[in-house]
Amino acid sequence: MENKKELRTWLDELNLEHPLVVAGPCSAETEEQVLKIAHELKDAGVSYFRAGIWKPRTRPGMFEGVGALGLKWLQKVKAETGMKIATEVANAAHVKLALEHDVDLLWIGARSTVSPFIVQEIAEALDGTDKIVLVKNPVNPDLALWLGGVERLYTAGIKNLGVIHRGFSTYEKTKYRNIPEWQIAIELQNRFPDLPLICDPSHITGNRDNILDVSQTALDLNFDGLIIETHTDPDNAWSDAAQQVTPASLIKIMANLKIRKETSGGAAYNKELNTLRAQIDVIDSSLLEALEKRMRISDGIGKLKKSGNVSVLQTSRWNELLEKMISEGKDKGLSEEFILRMFKAIHQESINHQEKILKS
Ligand code: PEP
Ligand code: MN
Repeated sequence: MENKKELRTWLDELNLEHPLVVAGPCSAETEEQVLKIAHELKDAGVSYFRAGIWKPRTRPGMFEGVGALGLKWLQKVKAETGMKIATEVANAAHVKLALEHDVDLLWIGARSTVSPFIVQEIAEALDGTDKIVLVKNPVNPDLALWLGGVERLYTAGIKNLGVIHRGFSTYEKTKYRNIPEWQIAIELQNRFPDLPLICDPSHITGNRDNILDVSQTALDLNFDGLIIETHTDPDNAWSDAAQQVTPASLIKIMANLKIRKETSGGAAYNKELNTLRAQIDVIDSSLLEALEKRMRISDGIGKLKKSGNVSVLQTSRWNELLEKMISEGKDKGLSEEFILRMFKAIHQESINHQEKILKS
């Protein structure tokens, strides 16, 4: 697949003056719950009402969705509020039912995108549909797998496409439920600038307090829209309670988001932006130079260790260094998470250099 303007026709045709917003509960629970949320959202600038009908849950025994019955409730939402409707499909049977119930937007969940078999099955069941299909990133940070999912749909004749960035699973404890790894979404955007890119801050943060912040980052990176889990009684939601916001909070979030234009055209503005970017380029080059020097010293240590027959890794030295850098970094306004990730990467490169010398 290559970048094509037609990929974003469906989005352009909505003629929105603001980013696209998809909102609604993580899961459809009861008919009353679905309709109550929908009525509170109908005048909030929401284009698509979302609700999960079939829920992929990490552990068995949790609420797994109401099933096909919920599609009737979504149809009621459309009839009563005029909002278009969206749900997740994870196999051919789901697709058949969703199409029969005239669901306008179908998305493929993160746990499905990891499986080319599942995506292929869904693509074949969708065969040539003009409904909108969005592919969530796979749970693991693999851009090729994500794009592969989009390509399978494109090849099956589905042209109203888009992607949802919902963050990536990690074993490490971080402030996110799924770490954003923004550079992956940026790379996707660079390769397919016309493929609509939507951020799911709910599944990235796992926590309603950080939704505004992550949404703002997404808009600053020129994302086309947001999908935000919204519930009238979030604390008692049957799934993903901690990350859902009330319709009133959603409206507040939308009002607080700063929508920045990609270019302003003003000569003075462009000059200032170019200057700042040039300064960053200079600093990036000096960062690389410093790293090169550091690796050369590391090579020297490797040679010493070889002659002294000492192992490459000395854990106590490494822990000391890390603690020192975390504390110095804090004084400079750099987060512990960043320092840890950066020094782990630098340390790994040092180890590789020394290993090479020890094996030579
Ligand atoms: C969802 O949107 O409710 C969902 C299950 O998302 P994900 O596939 O991103 O986990
Ligand atoms: Mn959810």
